[in-house]
Amino acid sequence: MENLRKPSWLKKRIPPFQDLARVKSIVDEVDLHTVCEEARCPNLGECFSRGTATILILGKVCTRDCGFCAVEHGLPSSPDEAEPEKVAHAVKKMGLQYVVITSVTRDDLSDGGASHFAKTIQAIRALDSRIKIEVLIPDFKGDPSSLALVLGEGPDVLNHNVETVPRLYYEVRPQANYRRSLDLLKRSKETHLHTLTKSGFMLGLGETEKEILNLFRDLREAGCDFLTIGQYLQPRSDRLSVVRYIPPEEFEKYKEIGEKMDFKTVASGPFVRSSFHAAQMFSTTRDR
Ligand code: SF4
Repeated sequence: MENLRKPSWLKKRIPPFQDLARVKSIVDEVDLHTVCEEARCPNLGECFSRGTATILILGKVCTRDCGFCAVEHGLPSSPDEAEPEKVAHAVKKMGLQYVVITSVTRDDLSDGGASHFAKTIQAIRALDSRIKIEVLIPDFKGDPSSLALVLGEGPDVLNHNVETVPRLYYEVRPQANYRRSLDLLKRSKETHLHTLTKSGFMLGLGETEKEILNLFRDLREAGCDFLTIGQYLQPRSDRLSVVRYIPPEEFEKYKEIGEKMDFKTVASGPFVRSSFHAAQMFSTTRDR
């Protein structure tokens, strides 16, 4: 497919980020990975300069190979048992009051890495119980006991992205299943009412408006509280091409539709990513 020209609204000015080096040196010092770097996120400069980062646990090699994702695919090594402590140390050093913990998908592990998520939450809470924790989890192949392990630690927000409309799963998330992702969100809400749930998807992969509206409806039916909608950007030439660049007004329209459908907060814009401004999203809801 012919490459589309990037429109003017996607040309991002790099902010002056004097703190970028500070965050980077902390994560490097304890040998951690950030999804910001691995996924080549366009907001990296902005987030690092605010002293925030989304920490990637369980290594940086994923057992799946989603068509939109820049993370390395292959057979990962065993989890680093010391990693939960390292994460807690980095979070404290960065002075974070809100942290997002995510992982690659670890289909090679019997619990999908759920116990590692649980230990990481415990380690952070042991250092400072006031820190708010959002976990952005894989689908654990739909295993309810893995989900229960994570939810049992009481994360403040349970985030799991549906990424796109069901028709495009074959290309975009070939090893995932739309229903399974919705069920995970629904089960989370049903079993742990006080944990807020969150999901997100990308526009620009060829989805239709009707499909997007169905996606909104499905997520609401699953009890999803927060929604993030952003523009898909091709991270590397061997990844899926962008089918369409969505103008900012359309993102605004979807935000209004989502708010009318009673999502607690909808972040919708070309540069919105799953954990972008996550702390603000959480605190706005809590303070309401
Ligand atoms: S499961 Fe997540 S990390 Fe793995 S390839 Fe897909 S999007 Fe990337």
